[in-house]
Amino acid sequence: MAPVLKVAVIGAGVSGLATAQALKTEGHQVVVYEKSDQLGGTWVYNPQVESDPLGLDPDREIIHSSLYYSLHTNLPYQLMGFSDYPFAIRKYSDSSVFPGHEEVLDFLNEFAREFGLVKLIRFKTEVVRVERVGLRNDQWVVESRADKVSSDEVFDAVVVCNGHYTQPSLADFPGIEKWPGKQMHSHNYRVPEPFQDQIVVVIGDGPSAIDISLEISKVAKEVHLSSKSPDVKIRKLDCVDSMWQHSKIDRVDGNGEVIFQECASVHAYHPPLYRYQYYFPFLKTEEIVAVDDSRVGPLYKHIFSPQLAPNLSFVGLPYNSTPVFLTIDLQAKWIANVLSGKTLLPSEEEMLANIQEHYRYMDDKGIPKQYTHNLGHEFVYSDWLASQLGLTGADEQTRSVLKRYSKFVVEKGLGRCREWRLDSVLQEHES
Ligand code: FAD
Repeated sequence: MAPVLKVAVIGAGVSGLATAQALKTEGHQVVVYEKSDQLGGTWVYNPQVESDPLGLDPDREIIHSSLYYSLHTNLPYQLMGFSDYPFAIRKYSDSSVFPGHEEVLDFLNEFAREFGLVKLIRFKTEVVRVERVGLRNDQWVVESRADKVSSDEVFDAVVVCNGHYTQPSLADFPGIEKWPGKQMHSHNYRVPEPFQDQIVVVIGDGPSAIDISLEISKVAKEVHLSSKSPDVKIRKLDCVDSMWQHSKIDRVDGNGEVIFQECASVHAYHPPLYRYQYYFPFLKTEEIVAVDDSRVGPLYKHIFSPQLAPNLSFVGLPYNSTPVFLTIDLQAKWIANVLSGKTLLPSEEEMLANIQEHYRYMDDKGIPKQYTHNLGHEFVYSDWLASQLGLTGADEQTRSVLKRYSKFVVEKGLGRCREWRLDSVLQEHES
C-alpha cells in the first residue's frame, strides 16, 4: 500500500492548487498555506500598488500580484487548462480567445471547488520558516503566521509553490544612480494614465513589456521599447504612432538621457520596467538549495533537490513553459506519484549528474545562467513529465494550437498576438 504522507504546500496559486489536487488524489494529507485571503495567486488582481514603485524598500507592504487592469492572457484559452480539467471558455461571459484575468480566476476557483481543495487551504497564513527536523532529518517544520500568531507544524514533505513574479530584479545600467527620472517596476504597473504625455522607456521584449508599451503608447508622448538583445536596430513601429524599438540600454546619465547600444538616445522621464527574481525567504536549507543569478539549484528537472528529495520540491519554476498550466499540472502529478512511491527517482548521484549535464549544455551553448529555468515554448519537458506518469502529455489539438499560435506570433510579433484565431486549426482537425 502506498504511504500516506502529511504534505505542506506553500501557496494557493495555479501551482499550489494543482499540487493539492494531485496529492489529494494520491491520498496524501494536504495543508495548503496561503498568505492572502483568497486563492489564485497572480490571477487575483489588486488595484493597490506598493509604496516603493521599484520594490526596493524591505519594509514595504508586499502586493503579490503583478496583473495590470486590462490584462488578457497571452495564450489562447485552449492552452490554459490542466490535463484533466480544460479551460472551458463557453461557460464564461467573454467568448474571446484570450480570456481576461477575471475569467482565469473564475476558472481556478471552479477547479478548487470541483476537487474539494478550498477546505485544505489555510488562508491569511504566511509561511515564514521551512526547515529540516527529525532524528534522521527527514521531516520539515513549517512555521507560519496568522493574525500575528506564530505556530509550528511538522510535515513529511513540503512543496514550494510561492510564485516568481513578485520580487523585483533590477537592471543595473551605468549611470542609473544619477539618473533623475522616475523608475517603476512593471510589478507596480496597473493602468496607463500616470504616463500621460510622458516619454517612457520600457525594458524587455516579453509579453508584459509589449502589452504595457502598447497600452502606454495611447496616452504617452513617446514610448521607447528597449530589447534585451544588442542586435536590434532602431525602428519606429508601424502599428503605433509614438513607439520605437531599440537595442539594449548602454547607459543613462544625470541629464535624464537614456543611451541605447545602437547609439540612439532619448530624454526619458519615466522609464524602466524590469525583471523578477526567485525568492524563498522562508526556506532554510543551509544553502543545499540556493538562488544564484536566477538559477534555483541544484534541482533535478527544476523540481527536486537531489540531496533533499523527495521531501522538498518546487512547482512552477520554469518560464516560457507553454502551456504553463499543463506543465505545472504534470509537475504536481509527478511529485505526488514520487511521494507515493509509484514513480522512483534516480539516485542522488544520477540526479546530480543530470543537472551538471544540463549546466554544461548551457555553458557550451553560451546560455547565461539566468536562463536555467527558461523552457523555450516546447513540449520536450512536459512530454518527459508525462512519460514518467505513463501519460501521453498534450493532445494533438493542443500541440497544433501551440504550433500555429507560435508561428503567428513569430510572423506578426507579440504586439499582435491577440489577433490570432483558432478556427483554421479546428477546421483542419475536423476535416
Ligand atoms: P502565483 O500565482 O504567484 O501563486 C503563488 C501563491 O503563493 C500566491 O497566492 C501567494 O500569495 C502565495 N505565497 C507566496 N509566498 C507565501 C508564503 N510565504 N506563505 C504563504 N503563501 C505564500 N501564464 C499563462 O499561462 N498565461 C498567461 O497569459 C500568463 N500571463 C501572465 C501575466 C503576468 C503579468 C504574469 C506576472 C504572469 C503570467 N502568467 C501567465 C504566468 C503565471 O505566473 C502563471 O500562470 C501562474 O499564475 C503561476 O502560478 P504559481 O502558483 O506558480 O504562482
